[in-house]
Amino acid sequence: MSSTPSDYEAVIGLEVHVQLKTNTKMFCGCKNEFGGASNSHVCPVCLGLPGVLPVPNEEAIVKTILTGEMLECQIATRCKFDRKNYFYPDMPKNYQISQYDEPLCLGGAVKLDLLAYPKDVQKEESTIADKPIRLTRIHLEEDVAKSFHNDDGTSGIDFNRAGTPLMEIVSEADMATAEEAFAYLSALKQILVYGGVSDADMEKGQMRCDVNVSIRPKGQKEFGTKCELKNLNSISGVRRALKYEIARQIEVVTGGGTITQETRRWDDDLGETTLMRIKEKAHDYRYFPDPDIQPVRTDEGLYAEAKTRLPELPAAKKLRLADQYGVSVYQAGVLSADAALADYFERAAKLHPQHGPAVANLLLNDFLATATGENPLPSLEPHYFGELADLTATGAINSKQGKEVFAQMFLTGKAPAALVKELGLAQVSDTAALEVFCDQAIAANPKSVADFKAGKLNAVNALKGQVMKLSKGTANPTLVGDILVKKLTQ
Ligand SMILES: [Zn+2]
Repeated sequence: MSSTPSDYEAVIGLEVHVQLKTNTKMFCGCKNEFGGASNSHVCPVCLGLPGVLPVPNEEAIVKTILTGEMLECQIATRCKFDRKNYFYPDMPKNYQISQYDEPLCLGGAVKLDLLAYPKDVQKEESTIADKPIRLTRIHLEEDVAKSFHNDDGTSGIDFNRAGTPLMEIVSEADMATAEEAFAYLSALKQILVYGGVSDADMEKGQMRCDVNVSIRPKGQKEFGTKCELKNLNSISGVRRALKYEIARQIEVVTGGGTITQETRRWDDDLGETTLMRIKEKAHDYRYFPDPDIQPVRTDEGLYAEAKTRLPELPAAKKLRLADQYGVSVYQAGVLSADAALADYFERAAKLHPQHGPAVANLLLNDFLATATGENPLPSLEPHYFGELADLTATGAINSKQGKEVFAQMFLTGKAPAALVKELGLAQVSDTAALEVFCDQAIAANPKSVADFKAGKLNAVNALKGQVMKLSKGTANPTLVGDILVKKLTQ
């Protein structure tokens, strides 16, 4: 019998619900819109009144097929909807329209990339597994209403969310660490955003995640008893909850106890999971095909439509950016991790593709490193970045002046070339003018000159510094170096 924590490994599977970006709800014409007064986007269909006829939303089916294509799933040629029966206060029909035995997408995988892992473990190569997490299925269903509880003890239900399209993505239990679950969710979110399928913001409930986790002695094939975690509101919260729950289960088992199958609630403030309810047996939902909804064929128009929307995916974009603009694979990865950022970079580098690495440095090191907020983009025209990179690369201004222009363009919103003119920053590359400064520096610093002639080649830097000072920082430093060396070795 194993008895130390390191003898155990975790087995993790995730069920992710994703709100689809559509104009209208899944089976009626009500607006699919967050916010608005409670119960303002409702009709007899989404309120579950008797005698209504639901009609499937074509856009939601296309977006689900597109998701399946991006994740390399098999796409069903026929789309059928079933009723999942249960009593719940936020589902007035007492059933949810879902897909049971014929989901739209089967199989597929989410590939974990190094950059999808939490930043603090990206350098610990031993904890990073560059593996695909297999998917079981993706199906389409309708969301339920939202109940809320007031301070005065009353409760209410807002049906604005009832009947909005929801995609459920079920993974195989392929993840073994909290970090892999984090990477899975990050990579999945990235792809959903790339495809324009959903904004997938967990904090806004656009992406919701149920976690199934169990432990087993290393080497054992059978799964242990699993627990389900609820109330996870961020990707980093999923990681924290899993870390806690895995340690808890190992502690129970190594202490001689057994795990009971239960649903546990994560409390992010307390940093612990607590028992919500014990699952005695699987619920029988008595699924049957919804008699009001005709099956939909996907193999003609709908599939073809989804295919036309297939975007360039992050992995392919990374390789192309590195190849086309000469940026490092790492920088290409950071840019591609955010479709909007990659797009900004391409627009910035468009006119000066040869300065790709300089533009990437300005964007990633000078801008993003100091920016605040999540995934911010510069508030400036993208071509300013290309223009500034070009001014520096061609020697029109030196790198110190480049930093000043960079700061000024954010302060004033003016274009780099205009700022260079306005601030009188143009770098002096006129040889005759520079020779005068060099002669002055040589005359005023006999010690540096003697040092240089005695073989201390670094002494030229002191002279160069003098010339920069004499020119008030406007001299082209490379040219100054060349002139000084020429003069000293004549
Ligand atoms: Zn409606």
